[in-house]
Amino acid sequence: MKRAALLALIGCAHPAIVEAPVDVVIPPIVTDATIHGDTRWDPVLERPIAEACTGALYLLTRGRARVPIVWDATPETFMGISEAREPMLLRTPWWLAPVEVGGATPDRTIRVVPEHCPSLRACMCHELGHFVGLQHLPPGARGVMSARNPEEHFTAADRAECERIGLCGTEK
Ligand SMILES: [Zn+2]
Repeated sequence: MKRAALLALIGCAHPAIVEAPVDVVIPPIVTDATIHGDTRWDPVLERPIAEACTGALYLLTRGRARVPIVWDATPETFMGISEAREPMLLRTPWWLAPVEVGGATPDRTIRVVPEHCPSLRACMCHELGHFVGLQHLPPGARGVMSARNPEEHFTAADRAECERIGLCGTEK
């Protein structure tokens, strides 16, 4: 019970380990925002993955979700960005999150725990998906926005969720 409460507090249980009810607060739909990336993300191995996810969101929404990342959230600038409530993509240390939690996006702060993600791309795209307003897919549906087993690439189910929230136009 304590674990479930922690998860609800902290966010998405990505690895398919536990069945955890997660209350995801629906953020406002973001169509144009610059995300301030945490400079702790590795510039060669990790930042390109985040950028690939924002590119995938751009394609999924046919340009309606434009969320470029600037990698300028340093220890020196962090407080200013935070106080201005500008969106941030933070690299959360594994020891700050329960082992089941791969990330959380309760508001404009996107947190990903790389050590807890079987696939960093899956966790990263999932949390960025929450940032633009996508919620979890229905149980059994496969896609990036699967609550417990997110995939690396957006699927028809993700597209349907995107249409449901009004971020993706419906097909004619
Ligand atoms: Zn989630």
